[in-house]
Amino acid sequence: MAEEVRVRIAPSPSGNLHVGTARTALFNYLFAKKMGGKFVLRVEDTDLERSSDAYIKNIFDSLKAMGLNWDEGPDIGGPYAPYTQSEKFDVYKKYAKELLDKGFAYECFCTQEELDEEKQRAIDEKRPHVYSGRCRDLTEEEKAKFRREGRKAVIRFKMPSKIMKFHDLIKGDLEFDTSLMGDFVIMKSNGSPTYNFAVVIDDMQMAMTHIIRGEDHISNTPKQIAIYEALGAKVPEFAHVGMILAPDRTKLSKRHGATAVSDFIEQGYLPEAFVNFVALLGWAPSDGVEIKTLDEIIADFSLESISPSNSIFEFDKLNWMNGQYIRSMDNSELTRRALKYMQQYNLSEYSTEKLEEIVASVKEPITVLSEITDAVEYYFGEDVQPNIEAQDILNAPEAKDVLSRSINLVNSFDFSDHDGLVEKLMAFRKSFENVKPKNVMWTIRAALTGRLRGAELSAVFTILGKERCLHRIKKALGE
Ligand code: GLU
Repeated sequence: MAEEVRVRIAPSPSGNLHVGTARTALFNYLFAKKMGGKFVLRVEDTDLERSSDAYIKNIFDSLKAMGLNWDEGPDIGGPYAPYTQSEKFDVYKKYAKELLDKGFAYECFCTQEELDEEKQRAIDEKRPHVYSGRCRDLTEEEKAKFRREGRKAVIRFKMPSKIMKFHDLIKGDLEFDTSLMGDFVIMKSNGSPTYNFAVVIDDMQMAMTHIIRGEDHISNTPKQIAIYEALGAKVPEFAHVGMILAPDRTKLSKRHGATAVSDFIEQGYLPEAFVNFVALLGWAPSDGVEIKTLDEIIADFSLESISPSNSIFEFDKLNWMNGQYIRSMDNSELTRRALKYMQQYNLSEYSTEKLEEIVASVKEPITVLSEITDAVEYYFGEDVQPNIEAQDILNAPEAKDVLSRSINLVNSFDFSDHDGLVEKLMAFRKSFENVKPKNVMWTIRAALTGRLRGAELSAVFTILGKERCLHRIKKALGE
């Protein structure tokens, strides 16, 4: 029987879930589901100073919002618990001792000043800086002397000097000259493991088969492979995904806009649209159809179809896609989600059905749900405050005539007969000799909504109802 695929997302909780990590999580999730394997969540919080519970919560909530539910993780446990690195310091110590005992690692007592000096010398001599390895062969006496001086040791891994080759499932065959890497620290003097060490111990213990992650980790991979080899462990497959760049081809950062998944969701991007968009950052559907549900993406997904190049985060495309999802969403579901952005209004003015009509009437041009707040404003309260363009129309000489006659029009409406209402409105707009139909409609719209753009006028009439329409028209007439 083929080995069960096991993959993981291993965020460090030093910030809210970044879209780059979200994309890595998604690709791992898609691969696990496609292969009938397991998707594991692990919290890499060895840097206790930079980690926080609030970030952990944000990461969990964001992954859940995207529908990326994990099979094993800190909150739900699993056969390889604990899934939080800070709860495993004794485990890393044990493996570090094993490497020390077998001669794959050594204690290093160099002070920061000594290391800085080494570095400076390398800079002066214009050669790359690699730790000299001068603590590799310390005698027991020398170590004891350093300890007496109060020096604290770190543990360094003896990095073999060779050309290391590995096959990356996305990037292809790669090779590295490890002599340029030097002996790197695996345990800090305070007893906490470094990333490169803890990640190997965990991936090994948790039986990971594939490591799918951002290409910023490619240069760490030879170090990690060397540790697997020293421990006699099976080396997993690696798949490094290109970076996500902003439209200006620089690293995507806050100055380009939102970068945390929770910020996108807060602004009113639908999680399902966001997931769809993120999947396309590096992956392309075989049939060219870009709008797909998570299940459809799983069905079409493979690591081979991920591009080895960087992807561009096109905000315009995300907006377009979100708009598509908004327009195709069932009105009651859309209203349920839109209500969050309508809390400043007195929603009890309307029944649930009417609220659905309100949302449906304004959804056409919406790209993010937060735009709903402004779009529905004129449906609430007795009066509207005309904006400058609307006021200009209301000040025009013909406005009085249009508005006076529209009172009769409204009185003639059967508000339960939408088609009849539309017909009467159409006839009314053409019934003026000296006023263009467009201006007739604008005048009424300005009086009813205080703006010149918005929902279909017939919907505005029906939703506001007779009394409020008459009130606003009379108000605009100065009555
Ligand atoms: N904690 C690492 C990060 O967030 C995980 C890297 C990895 O997947 O190995 O970048």
